[in-house]
Amino acid sequence: MNGLTVGGLTRRQALGRGGRLLVAAAGAQAGATWVGSATSSANSPGASWRVLARSLQGPLLRPGDAGFRAASAAENDLYASVVPAGIALCEGPRDVQACVRWARDNGVPLVARSGGHSFGGYSRTTGLQVDLRRMKSAIVDRDAGTLRVSGTVRFADLDRVLKPYNLFIPAGQCPSVAVNGFTLGGGFGFYSRAHGLAGDQLKRTDVVLASGQKVTADPSRHSDLFWACRGGGGGNFGINTSMTFSLFPVGDVSVCTCVWSSKPEDVLNEFQQLFKHFPDTFSLIVRITPATGSSPMTVTALGHYFGPSRELRDILSPVLSLAPASQQEFLDLSFWKARDYLADTNGPPHSYVERSRYVAGPMSSAGIATLLDQTRRWPGAGATAGRLDFWLWGGAMIKPSPRSTAFVHRSARSLFAVGATWPAAMATRRARPLINWVNDTWAAVGPHATPYAYQNFIDPALRDWKRAYYGANLSRLSRVKRAYDPDDLFNFAQSIPT
Ligand SMILES: Cc1cc2nc3c(=O)[nH]c(=O)nc-3n(C[C@H](O)[C@H](O)[C@H](O)COP(=O)(O)OP(=O)(O)OC[C@H]3O[C@@H](n4cnc5c(N)ncnc54)[C@H](O)[C@@H]3O)c2cc1C
Repeated sequence: MNGLTVGGLTRRQALGRGGRLLVAAAGAQAGATWVGSATSSANSPGASWRVLARSLQGPLLRPGDAGFRAASAAENDLYASVVPAGIALCEGPRDVQACVRWARDNGVPLVARSGGHSFGGYSRTTGLQVDLRRMKSAIVDRDAGTLRVSGTVRFADLDRVLKPYNLFIPAGQCPSVAVNGFTLGGGFGFYSRAHGLAGDQLKRTDVVLASGQKVTADPSRHSDLFWACRGGGGGNFGINTSMTFSLFPVGDVSVCTCVWSSKPEDVLNEFQQLFKHFPDTFSLIVRITPATGSSPMTVTALGHYFGPSRELRDILSPVLSLAPASQQEFLDLSFWKARDYLADTNGPPHSYVERSRYVAGPMSSAGIATLLDQTRRWPGAGATAGRLDFWLWGGAMIKPSPRSTAFVHRSARSLFAVGATWPAAMATRRARPLINWVNDTWAAVGPHATPYAYQNFIDPALRDWKRAYYGANLSRLSRVKRAYDPDDLFNFAQSIPT
C-alpha cells in the first residue's frame, strides 16, 4: 500500500461573527435571504455560528474573514452573487458530521462543495458551504488495484498520484473537476467507452447522512444507497467523504485533432452514420464552432484511441476521404501525455451555460441541417464562445442494464450538448442573446433527440428534469431519499424528491 496526501487550503482560527447580513442570490436563483442576526444571545444565529466554529477541527470562515473571498469564489461567475453565510473548511469526516448536525439543528441550508463545477451553481448556497477541499487525499492499493479518494480530489491531482503506477479510473478531461461530484452523476470521459463510467467502477463509498451518522455503502452494506450513489447525482443523499474505485492499467495510446472548415453537413452526417461502427477502444467529441469575425464555422473531431495512430487514421478514413480536413494531427503518446493533450482547461474567470440531450441513434440529416442553421445564428462576438458538441456514447457505458445502477442512460448513441461562454466582466444582461441562442438551439434539436439529459450537465432551465435525468429509476431514487434523508435536509432546486 502506498499513500499520498495532496495540498490543502491555509489554516486559520475560526471566528464566529454577529452582525446582520443581507445576502442577495442572483443568476438562476434570484431572491434575497436574511441570514445572521445583530443580537448575541445564546440562541441567536450569530451565537450558533460560534458553536459550530468551536465544534470543528478546521476553520469556519464568515464573510469578511481572511480567506473567505478565495474560498467562496465561484467557478462559474453566473452564480458569483450567491454568497455563503459560512464556509466550513472541513479537516475530515468528523467535521462534515458536525456541520450536518449543526445545520439540521439550526435550520440552516447546507451544500457540499467539492470541485465547484455544478453547471447549475448547486454547490453554492446562502447558508453553510460544507467545503471538502482541505481534506483531500488519494491512496493507491496496488495489490488490490484500487484507489481511495477522500474529500475533494481534482483530476489534476489524480494524474499526479496515479502516473507513477500507470493505473487510472474513467476520469474526465477538465483538470479542476473533482472526482466526487463527477462520479455521483455517472461521470464519463475518453476512457468510458472502454472502461465504463466512473460510477460503474465505484466499489464503496463513505457517506455522512442527514442524521449525522457516517455509513459505508457498498454492494452488501446499504446497497440501496450504494446503487443511488452511482448516477443519482451529487448533493442528494448525504455527503460522500470517501470513494474507492477499481483501477485499469494504461500504456501508450494515440490522439487526433481533425478540423473541417468546409462541407460541415457531409462531415456531420458521415459521423452520425459511423458512430455505431466505431470500436469501443475509440472515443470522440465532434464539435461545431460557429463562425466569428474572419474565422469560418468549423467541425472539429478530437479523438482518443487505445491503440496506435495508424489504426486511428483507418478509423477516421471514411470521413477524411469524404471531405479533406483543413488541419489534421495524429499522435502516438503515452497515456499521460495524451491526458495533457486532451485537457479541457478553464482559462480566466468566465460565465457559462450548457444544456444537453441524449441522441438514440444517428441524428437525421434534417436534425443536422437544423443544427447548422442554428450555428449560423450565433449572436456572439469578441471573447464569447459558442459550441455544439456530440460526445460519442455507447461501448462499456451502455453494457450494464439501466436498472443496475441509478444511471439510466444505457442505450444512447451520442450525448449532444450546446453551450455558451462569456467573460466574467460582461454583464449577464449583455449575455442574454447568447443564453437565448443556447435555449433556441436546445429546443430546435428536441424533435431529433430523446427527452433525456445528462444529470452531470445539470440544467436549471430544464422543466421535466426528474424524468430527463433519471427516467425509470426516479421512483427507486425517491425511495432511497425517503430512507436516508426523510426530512429533505439535502435540498436544492433539482434535488431528488422524497
Ligand atoms: C469545464 C467542465 C468540464 C466537464 N467535463 C465533464 C466530463 O467530461 N464528463 C462528465 O461526466 N462531466 C463533466 N462535467 C460535469 C461535472 O462532472 C459536474 O459538473 C460535476 O457535478 C462536478 O463535480 P464537482 O465536485 O467538481 O462540483 P461541485 O459543484 O462541487 O459538486 C457538484 C454537485 O455535487 C454535490 N457534491 C459535491 N461534492 C459532494 C460530496 N462529496 N458528496 C455529495 N454531494 C457532493 C454538490 O453539492 C453539487 O450539487 C464538466 C463540468 C465542467 C464545468
